[in-house]
Amino acid sequence: MIIILRQGITPSEKDKVRAFLTEKGFMVREIVGENDTVFGAVGTVHIDPRQVELLPGVSSVVPISKPYKLASRELKKEDTIVSVGKVRIGGNRVAVIAGPCAVESYDQVMAIAESVRESGAVMLRGGAFKPRTSPYSFQGLGEEGLKILRKAGDAFDMPVTTEVVSPTDVEMMASYIDMFQIGARNMQNFELLKAVGRTGMPVLLKRGLSATIEEWLMAAEYLMASGTDQVVLCERGIRTFEKATRNTLDCSAIPVVQKLTHLPVIGDPSHATGIRDMVAPMSLALVAGGASGIIVEVHNCPEKALSDGPQSLYPSQFSKLMRDIQALCPVVGKSLERIPRILPESMKEKGKEKPVSTASVKVAFQGERGAFSELAIRRTFDESVGVLPCHLFSDAFDAVSEGRAKYGMLPVENTLGGTIYDTLDLLAMHPELTVVGEQQVRVIHNLIGMPDAELGDIKKVYSHPQGLMQCTRFLSEELPDAERIPFFDTAGAVSFIAEKKDKSLAAIAGSPAAVYHGLKIIRQGIETDASNYTRFYVIAREENADLFRSQAKPNKASISFSVSDEPGALMKALKVLADRGINMKKLESRPIQGKPWEYLFFLEIQLPEDGSFNALCSEMKETCATFRVLGTYASVL
Ligand code: PEP
Ligand code: MN
Repeated sequence: MIIILRQGITPSEKDKVRAFLTEKGFMVREIVGENDTVFGAVGTVHIDPRQVELLPGVSSVVPISKPYKLASRELKKEDTIVSVGKVRIGGNRVAVIAGPCAVESYDQVMAIAESVRESGAVMLRGGAFKPRTSPYSFQGLGEEGLKILRKAGDAFDMPVTTEVVSPTDVEMMASYIDMFQIGARNMQNFELLKAVGRTGMPVLLKRGLSATIEEWLMAAEYLMASGTDQVVLCERGIRTFEKATRNTLDCSAIPVVQKLTHLPVIGDPSHATGIRDMVAPMSLALVAGGASGIIVEVHNCPEKALSDGPQSLYPSQFSKLMRDIQALCPVVGKSLERIPRILPESMKEKGKEKPVSTASVKVAFQGERGAFSELAIRRTFDESVGVLPCHLFSDAFDAVSEGRAKYGMLPVENTLGGTIYDTLDLLAMHPELTVVGEQQVRVIHNLIGMPDAELGDIKKVYSHPQGLMQCTRFLSEELPDAERIPFFDTAGAVSFIAEKKDKSLAAIAGSPAAVYHGLKIIRQGIETDASNYTRFYVIAREENADLFRSQAKPNKASISFSVSDEPGALMKALKVLADRGINMKKLESRPIQGKPWEYLFFLEIQLPEDGSFNALCSEMKETCATFRVLGTYASVL
């Protein structure tokens, strides 16, 4: 049952309620939600709920209708975010776990770990105990395999997961790995579930070959009732009459499970399909369907793999898949999980980072709380990072320049509105700042009003002129008589409505602004053109740049330059790129302040893979009047 506690409950009342329930034989879990705190009480005993309802500090008691209790959404409304080392699984992230089916040798795992990390995987997988259909197939390297997996995880800064098949191995394995994997064949091995649950460690729970969703959630309940609340579910295909693929990927299980449980759910396209060529499309289907991640088999030489070679991706296929997932993420309002970018040196402990609290790191942005720039910050940095809202673009640049914020998140381009010139002009005025990263956010506009407002109540709509313009069709069709009032920024318009408390007023903005101010989303996704994205630069002072850049290999550069006022000058500069086969991604020109009719050019290029960027810069400099590398960074596009 769920015991909803009164808002002002005292610590001693709380202790008494807990003691009462424990004494009756219940196991009690406290869950602190956004709006209220509840106790989840589960166990084999039955009591009259009125006995609990009468206790001081208790607001109400609600039975949980599902057979799974701790795993149920009824008990906990918010998504659970599972932390595996520095990696977080759940919510709006897509975490990619990759590695071989089985650990075969040190060299094999190291080579695969290096390549999957480079492509963007955040966790390493690899079986050391292999439950094979045939007793004559390779059974895994056992403890030796775990040692190899650990070394590779440490070398490439990735937590590791591997399958446990026997309760007697649990303790030994816990000292090597970061997350247990319960395989499909063991989903209902209840003694194993209990032994693993008792460790309190994160667990990846595969769906059984022919398990219903309810049976799968009951298995999660076993883990949780035994002592862990860190469970990630994994859909890996089920047995059906279909023989074209190894199993049948049950993609619809993803949204079904998300309704029933607060636990994150990911997908395994490798075991679901059993066929290499089907892995990438099904990975994308899983992400599009809302999965919080995927676990994929990758092998450096699949032809020689000791298990599951035919379904293992080549490293190059995996790298392409990661780019496709990255492109898909913003379409479905998700972002690719990365190993957190900010790891202050002082927090490192013998080469192993503790979960990082970045509360002391501030990131500046232009706008008010809940703005799209803040969303970009949450996608890039750890959730705990502090934000510094600034009134003007120039304020955000100054904050980074003066060290009041370590980083800045500034929009540089919108797919409908084009370049945001303020950012380019300010970069030109701040030579001490450099571009260290890039982020992309899909702009989804919503009509936001007072909690009791309905569409018919709205007489005035406030937003940034771009917001009003981008929702013209909705406004003309659904609110033809409403006055459209331009406002300084979108999130600012929401804060204005919250202040006015007038139900005839509405704002157009992103959903985080509505959540931040406790307002209602009257209509969702009202933008005329759904392919509306904003791209951001992460800026920093030079001394903070490497820390950020070290997390992902730069593959793009931004450059500004000017040329002399003579025929062919611009062509000469750009010819350097053409001659070197460099792909130019963007070119802009801006007037130079104080020099009428002279222009500064902004370039974005793909970095040469052969490390010849410095040589390219020297050559270009010779053709230019001024030349500055604004920054190199890992592209998100
Ligand atoms: C595996 O992940 O290697 C594995 C054996 O998966 P499953 O338990 O889903 O078959
Ligand atoms: Mn496998």
